[in-house]
Amino acid sequence: MSNPVEIYDTTLRDGSQGLGISFSVLDKLRIAERLDGFGVHYIEGGWPGSNPKDIEFFDEAKRRTFRNARLAAFGATRRKGVTAAEDDQVRLLIDAETPVVTIVGKTSLLHVREVLQTTPQENLAMIADTIAFLKTQGRFVVYDAEHSFDGYKEDSEYALATLAAAERAGADVVVLCDTNGGSIPAEVVEITKLVRARIAARIGIHTHDDIGLGVANALAALDAGATHVQGTINGIGERTGNCNLTSVIPNLAFKFKRSSVPGESLVMLKEMSQFVDEIANMRPNPRLPWVGAAAFSHKGGQHVNAVQKLVRSYEHIDPALVGNSRHVLMSELAGRSNIIMKARELGFDVNKETPELNAMLQRVKALEHEGYEFEAADGSLALLIRHTLAHETKPFVVDAYHVSMRSDGKSSVCEATVKVVVGTDQAHTVAEGDGPVNALDGALRSALLKFYRRDLEDVRLTDYKVRIVNSSSGTAARTRVLIESSDGTSTWTTIGVDENIIEASLQALVDSLEYGLLRKAFAADVAAT
Ligand SMILES: [Zn+2]
Repeated sequence: MSNPVEIYDTTLRDGSQGLGISFSVLDKLRIAERLDGFGVHYIEGGWPGSNPKDIEFFDEAKRRTFRNARLAAFGATRRKGVTAAEDDQVRLLIDAETPVVTIVGKTSLLHVREVLQTTPQENLAMIADTIAFLKTQGRFVVYDAEHSFDGYKEDSEYALATLAAAERAGADVVVLCDTNGGSIPAEVVEITKLVRARIAARIGIHTHDDIGLGVANALAALDAGATHVQGTINGIGERTGNCNLTSVIPNLAFKFKRSSVPGESLVMLKEMSQFVDEIANMRPNPRLPWVGAAAFSHKGGQHVNAVQKLVRSYEHIDPALVGNSRHVLMSELAGRSNIIMKARELGFDVNKETPELNAMLQRVKALEHEGYEFEAADGSLALLIRHTLAHETKPFVVDAYHVSMRSDGKSSVCEATVKVVVGTDQAHTVAEGDGPVNALDGALRSALLKFYRRDLEDVRLTDYKVRIVNSSSGTAARTRVLIESSDGTSTWTTIGVDENIIEASLQALVDSLEYGLLRKAFAADVAAT
């Protein structure tokens, strides 16, 4: 690994502009801490001049120490006609007390004239004064040249003059920004090279993904002489998002052989990605390259067969290198090899000679025909395989249940009663909930806690999804319920299908808790293989 690249994370500033994203101050602090541990070089915390929340973030951040990353406050060049020291928005950057300040300025003449409504000379002065002032205050200054590529295409000499003004004033990094996200790699390469020849300062790249080229453009610029890259975790950001660092970082390490974050952080990449989704309250995108749940998933007989023979045959890299894992997807196409591989992934010792193999396959096919879908329901599939192989009695059986609802016009409440049999014992419990499934979950859980407190007390239902499926023509519509559960360290998904939503939910709930009870046995099996 040589030719290192600096990672500048702007998840907390540009990323927070994304659709549906709203980070609290505490959220931002948690993400910043995590990014620091992960080893990015800079964390852009926000724009103190744009909102009080970001001022509060920087106040809180003053009391923390970052081990790896340097914190950056973001702002714009001074207003026209005032000195930088007089500009309130610039003062707030000083008050943020960060070691790094990032300043965005205009590169495009069109924007200078139409948006700033000032002269080309005054814009150059605004860039130079602001940077020079920040340098007198002892800051490391990153200069973000807005619309670098569009501005260059419009008037290359003026664009270069803005960059030269930034450099002369003392900017430590000059960052070329594809603000509108419409550039293509060939242009990015050409312009980055031309800038490289004229500017001695470190060159950075900041791209957006409007035409799906955010990552490609950033990597192209890094190939053409840039050594600093700005982006966000999972590519969150306004419109279609920013350059995705969860793609840039592994590409640099594994494809370009260039170092960025510490080598030992790469195995935490998927975790970093999931953490930001969790804080942003977004469902993870399974199709994200490198870190998505589907990034190393295999479906269809031929691939699975080959993967089983030679794991690398259908994978560009070992998923474990980025903390991801291989998955085999079940489907109606599922052949013997799929089921064997899935069973092995779940920790069972199964091969072509296993006598129960055929029964397992028939059972999966029959259930899929009824509308079950095991691709996302690893927990239920693990139980199905275990029941076929182990011939053991179930840890509990729901003998009977009753759900009712009453409403007084203003509010309504559901009540569930369940009778659970565990060996020769029984429990009969009642619970109320804000919906029938919630009540049923409460009743079932309180019954089982009597027998299995230690194993179940930290198991929680974390997601509940309902979909209507038409299993096959001529039958009534069925409801498919998927329940995701977690014990804080691992998660599992279970499924139920029925014409009645309560019955489907109960099946998924029963599987969720049964898997919860047996999960340690599964984990032990997995460890042993
Ligand atoms: Zn941006």
